[in-house]
Amino acid sequence: LPEEFIKAQPIIDTIEAAGYEAYYVGGSVRDTLLGLPIHDVDIATSAYPEEVKSLFNRTVDTGIEHGTVMILDHGTGYETTTFRTESGYQDYRRPDSVKFVRSLKEDLNRRDFTINALALKTDGTIIDYFDGLTDLKNHRIRAVGDPEKRFNEDALRMMRAVRFASQLNFKIDSETIAGIEHHGSLLTKIAVERIHVEFVKMLLGQWPAMGLDVFMETGLYQYCPDFKAYSDQLDQLRNKLKSGLSNETAVWSLIAATFNLSWQQINQLLKHWKSANQLIEDVQTATKAVQAISTQSVDAWVLYQTGKELLVIANEVAYKLGESSYETTALIAQYDALQIHSKKALAITGQDLMAAGVKPGPQLGQALNYLERQVVDGQLTNQNQVLLSTAINYLNEKA
Ligand code: ATP
Ligand code: MG
Repeated sequence: LPEEFIKAQPIIDTIEAAGYEAYYVGGSVRDTLLGLPIHDVDIATSAYPEEVKSLFNRTVDTGIEHGTVMILDHGTGYETTTFRTESGYQDYRRPDSVKFVRSLKEDLNRRDFTINALALKTDGTIIDYFDGLTDLKNHRIRAVGDPEKRFNEDALRMMRAVRFASQLNFKIDSETIAGIEHHGSLLTKIAVERIHVEFVKMLLGQWPAMGLDVFMETGLYQYCPDFKAYSDQLDQLRNKLKSGLSNETAVWSLIAATFNLSWQQINQLLKHWKSANQLIEDVQTATKAVQAISTQSVDAWVLYQTGKELLVIANEVAYKLGESSYETTALIAQYDALQIHSKKALAITGQDLMAAGVKPGPQLGQALNYLERQVVDGQLTNQNQVLLSTAINYLNEKA
């Protein structure tokens, strides 16, 4: 067993010693069997939340109404969830009520896909009620039980199916695909923030086309904010994307470039997807740089305005589009060679200008902007005396 499980074993031992059952479950079990690294170890137990809390000194109620208690152990937190069933699902998302149960099988039965419904004991035994091991071996994503019913219960599972396909390079089972075809429209009932998370994970996966194919062919994309009008562009994207992207800014910049969106349209799209303002700004800046890279018009000012981090992203995106003829290292070398990388680095301040007799007011800001541009473009050396005399000439000419 991987060391993460070994480290968590005392937790399971403590729960078992008190007479309850406890297992490793979820993504960490799936990923271990696939030989992939694991992020977080999740534990499922027959003990009720209050019983779990009574067994450990340090716990946090991270989701106690759903049965989840975090056990803190030597700096690591373990999410421990009581076996439960879910019922209700009146609104096609999250159950109306959860019921704690003592049976592992009932708990695994509520899980989304067979590969996510495996449990692992500390001695290495796997509990597999739904043929998850066969599906893992055959690289298949299959709903636990009747896909129609499962997607009707919780529509987010359809997005989870396509993102696992893209992360694992797995095929989605045909009945599960049919379920997505029939229930795609229920996605509109799900909070956009949650769709957003799964969509981005899909494009960050190593095999994005595996998810995108189903996302497009089932029509699921139509029920994502603003995507309906862009089916041709999304198709192009899936044909071009042979490997995953490296971060979320790259994901949306690639979409913006593929959809050919303006500054304002990027803002609108990303607002509809409930994105943070910082992400929106970064995508706008990176997309502008993608355009410059695609048209081979990267100059000092573009480099300066984009900044190193977003330049790397923009070139990655242009490269994926098949439109970059720049080496990232060369772009970075050009960027590093700029005389300044921010306005603060100008060898002059507003104070200096005022000391030389320039009156405060808008012209002072204009003079600094002029110097900034000239220094970035390499027209001026970034030296205090040079900048001072240039500013004074500039202001005299304007007056
Ligand atoms: P990741 O590696 O991305 O964390 P994961 O499989 O652990 O993948 P989580 O979202 O962390 O995914 O969920 C943990 C487990 O909870 C899943 O493996 C699955 O068994 C169950 N699960 C999560 N979301 C749902 C859902 N919407 N419907 C049913 N079961 C779910
Ligand atoms: Mg997980």
